[in-house]
Amino acid sequence: MKTSTSYQRVGIMGGTFDPIHFGHLVTAEAARCEFGLEKVIFVPTGYPPHKKGCLITDAEYRYQMTVLATNSNPFFEVSRVEIDRPGYSYTIDTIDEFSSFYGSKTELFFITGADAILEILTWKDVDRLLCECHFIAATRPGFQLSRFEEFRPKLPAEGRHRIHLIEVPALAISSTDIRWRVRNNKPIKYLLPESVEEHIYAKGLYRIHSSDVYEKG
Ligand code: ATP
Ligand code: MG
Repeated sequence: MKTSTSYQRVGIMGGTFDPIHFGHLVTAEAARCEFGLEKVIFVPTGYPPHKKGCLITDAEYRYQMTVLATNSNPFFEVSRVEIDRPGYSYTIDTIDEFSSFYGSKTELFFITGADAILEILTWKDVDRLLCECHFIAATRPGFQLSRFEEFRPKLPAEGRHRIHLIEVPALAISSTDIRWRVRNNKPIKYLLPESVEEHIYAKGLYRIHSSDVYEKG
């Protein structure tokens, strides 16, 4: 039973989700259970600054696939906050929005892959970001935890303890590989939820000359 002084923890899982796959879902669920998160909000990115010049599927399709993939888990939600915000999607802006929405009694935990966390020093307002929220960095196959421990001292001293590493069951799945598989008529079954697979084929996503793919940046 909660009292008015109790804190809650909310997870935020950011990603391009082009498309969302079981690696993302396993990671979010592992983080939720291990850190006692009330829920995990999936935030498909609008215009990711680190993927400038890459081919990215229309945000509406990525949003729809994220909704389809998450709707069987009552602890998962999907937010349009980055999709609806004009300009590049910076994590600090998203965290600021959620912080003001949830207030000071909620601790935010940004869930990411451990590979992505090694890039954190390039993220906008990293010092403030590390003060505003915690990070849960999930290891992906091929990632050595020692790489992060060597990197940790480079982070701002006040925030470096807010990065927590978790190991998730090894799933060597990536969106890049799924897109490649579709383009090359390889199976994608069992790499992502069936509803997402159906959506990909129904909308003709990831075919090389598809008009739903365009260049950003
Ligand atoms: P792409 O290949 O297009 O970069 P991706 O599979 O890396 O796609 P993203 O949408 O870029 O997926 O990832 C969102 C977040 O999920 C990132 O922080 C990424 O590190 C993490 N992530 C992606 N796949 C996995 C996986 N198999 N296991 C653990 N974390 C993952
Ligand atoms: Mg990626």
